[in-house]
Amino acid sequence: MIVVSTLGAAAIGATLALFFVANARLKSANTASARSATVSAAAFDVRAAVVAIDVALQQVVEEYDAKNLAQWRRASRSWEAPATALERAAAASNDRQEQRARALRDEIRSYIDDYGEPVVGIAKVSPAAVRSSVAHTEGTIRLDQIITDTDAVARNSAVIAADRSGAAGRLADQATIAGIVALVLTPVLLILLGLWLARVVADPLRQTVAAASEVAAGNFDVRLNERRRDEFGELAHVFNAMTESLSVSRSELIERADSLERSERHKSELISMVSHEVRTPLASVLGFTRLLLERDLPEADRRRYLGIVDAEATRLAALVSDFLDARLIEEGRFSLRREPFDLRSLVREQAEVTLGHDESHELELELPDRPLEIDGDRARLAQVVGNVLSNAVKYSPDGGTITVGAAEDHGHARVWIADQGTGIPPEHRGQLFQPFYRGDAAAAGIPGTGLGLAVSRRIVEAHDGRIGFDPLDRGTRFWFDLPLEAAANGRR
Ligand code: ATP
Ligand code: MG
Repeated sequence: MIVVSTLGAAAIGATLALFFVANARLKSANTASARSATVSAAAFDVRAAVVAIDVALQQVVEEYDAKNLAQWRRASRSWEAPATALERAAAASNDRQEQRARALRDEIRSYIDDYGEPVVGIAKVSPAAVRSSVAHTEGTIRLDQIITDTDAVARNSAVIAADRSGAAGRLADQATIAGIVALVLTPVLLILLGLWLARVVADPLRQTVAAASEVAAGNFDVRLNERRRDEFGELAHVFNAMTESLSVSRSELIERADSLERSERHKSELISMVSHEVRTPLASVLGFTRLLLERDLPEADRRRYLGIVDAEATRLAALVSDFLDARLIEEGRFSLRREPFDLRSLVREQAEVTLGHDESHELELELPDRPLEIDGDRARLAQVVGNVLSNAVKYSPDGGTITVGAAEDHGHARVWIADQGTGIPPEHRGQLFQPFYRGDAAAAGIPGTGLGLAVSRRIVEAHDGRIGFDPLDRGTRFWFDLPLEAAANGRR
């Protein structure tokens, strides 16, 4: 923009300067022509004075008397004033003209002194001699020369004036052409400049305003074109960064609001679940304890009822322990008692404990021959295997085979537990590991708190491991990986 406006100002300035110069030249041409008129007038006076000298001399030659002599004296003085005026006027034109005028003055004086006065003197003594053709011829020659030179001074002055006025006229013509061009081009250039400004400034400004209105209306996905390499490019870059960060913040807010909503829902689910989960075993414990206290029962019944009380109290204790684990998870307080051990023994043990007395499922164990030494918290990892195994049993109510296996896999020990149960619907797969999330289990009347997998993931991750599951054609295979002890040692 600065370049364009500078060029425009320079063009207008140049045109104006041309006008000023042309005007000055025209003025000087005017002066020259006025001067030429003065010179011509002075030359005319000089010419008249010289002719008067010649006439007076002729009269003295014709008749030498006092009157004619007085006439001659007057004429031989009266040329001085016009000659001086001519000299002054010529001096104003140039040096050459001044020299010419001065030479003319000398010529006239010489005519009077060297020719006129001697002729008058001779006329006094010998009028016949003075009328001889020789004297007359010389006078005529001299006079002609003076008149020619006088005319030359006037003519030269006219030529100078004509030259100046010609040059000034040409310059004026050029200035007029430049003026016309400027007159035509200026509006065209102004229109072009306006269009260019509209494209370069107004368009991006309009786009920015439109985008800002969109942002004000809540659309943070709007972006401006950043390709321009000027201030608008920078503005677009900053604007886009702003909308980007606004959009990220909004997503975070939405996510936080969602998670708050989820946790609120979980809490209320938890309350109803806890009341249900705690009340059932507690009711059994209370009922059977009262029965035992109030009645004298046969030994066999007594033992059976005590067994039930024991089982229900154990269930309550497990429930409380799960809650405590869940709290530890939420508060991030989780410590491990690590020791090296063979994972195969732990897997076998848990499989037998869980499935030893289960008649509706078949157990298939797939364990390697070589030990799977890991460095971990045995009790916590037993809890993980127990949780996943109990799920496999719980969520395959129609029975089937439960495959429990372990193997070495790229420096890790992998444990898997596959069932042929209900499977996990896709809409629940992303949230299974969240505390208290139970999918359709609660609705299906399957007991549980939704803490087993959340606690298990926490334990596995505390061991630098990973836990996950793969849906099968029938049922689900849960797995977890733990670093083998050699790898763990290498890392330490
Ligand atoms: P608990 O805390 O007593 O274990 P839970 O079994 O409901 O309760 P999780 O073990 O965390 O809780 O499991 C969460 C949910 O994942 C379950 O409610 C169930 O819907 C689903 N789930 C877990 N394992 C399986 C499985 N093997 N097959 C199908 N669904 C499963
Ligand atoms: Mg479970």
